[in-house]
Amino acid sequence: MSGSLVVVGTGPGRPELMTPASLAAIERATDLVGYGPYLDRVTLRADQCRHASDNRVELERARQALSLAASGRHVAVVSGGDPGVFAMAAAIFEAVESGDPAWRALDIRVEPGVTAMLAAAAEVGAPLGGDFCAISLSDNLKSWATIERRLTAAARADFVIALYNPASKARPHQLGQAFDLLRTIKSDETPVLFVRAAGSAEAKVVATTLAAADGALADMRTLVIIGASTTRSVGRWIYTPRREA
Ligand code: SAH
Repeated sequence: MSGSLVVVGTGPGRPELMTPASLAAIERATDLVGYGPYLDRVTLRADQCRHASDNRVELERARQALSLAASGRHVAVVSGGDPGVFAMAAAIFEAVESGDPAWRALDIRVEPGVTAMLAAAAEVGAPLGGDFCAISLSDNLKSWATIERRLTAAARADFVIALYNPASKARPHQLGQAFDLLRTIKSDETPVLFVRAAGSAEAKVVATTLAAADGALADMRTLVIIGASTTRSVGRWIYTPRREA
């Protein structure tokens, strides 16, 4: 078995935000596996094979990538942002855990990338300057009760909260429910940021407060940041100081 598998992230959008190490890993690959729109962000040579798949079939895609690597191919699995944040790297290890024991001997690596939360924060200033946490609002792989429990704990602990997967066509109302829950714990003036297509040429920011936040403002390309009690604006920037008070 002399194949290999590397999981890389394309960063949030702009080509310069993809790391040189990720680009080099893609260059070395014989096969590229990923969700079509992410694969579209990388330029392939004629001798490289492209295996595009649908967004929802992550485990299947992971098994396909592992089988290719086991057959001696050099595979790059391409995710958006950072491949380890709510993305394909974990899917690969889930597939290793439940799959062919021989896969455990494969040469598997993960290249870090710029995750959406970091690009979104940079669009507005430094809202992640104090302690923060990231929560995916998708209940595809966990229950809504778990999400509510984690939101409540994060709000009580006064973390800045970065919400990934805030909404999709199948889940249009959950962000509104999350705001309702947070309003029972956090102050009305808490800054809330909707950052769409962060780190790309189409980046768009809506800054509002928890009292006024409307869940309908988010879509699948939006990252929502909910401030801590110290998060505030200075001029046209928003930041969270590193000090407690
Ligand atoms: N691995 C990715 C996250 C995958 S989850 C990463 O590290 O960024 C998908 C969610 O990420 C989206 O629903 C959205 O909330 C967020 N996201 C991804 N790219 C984004 C971008 N450029 N701007 C804002 N949010 C983004």
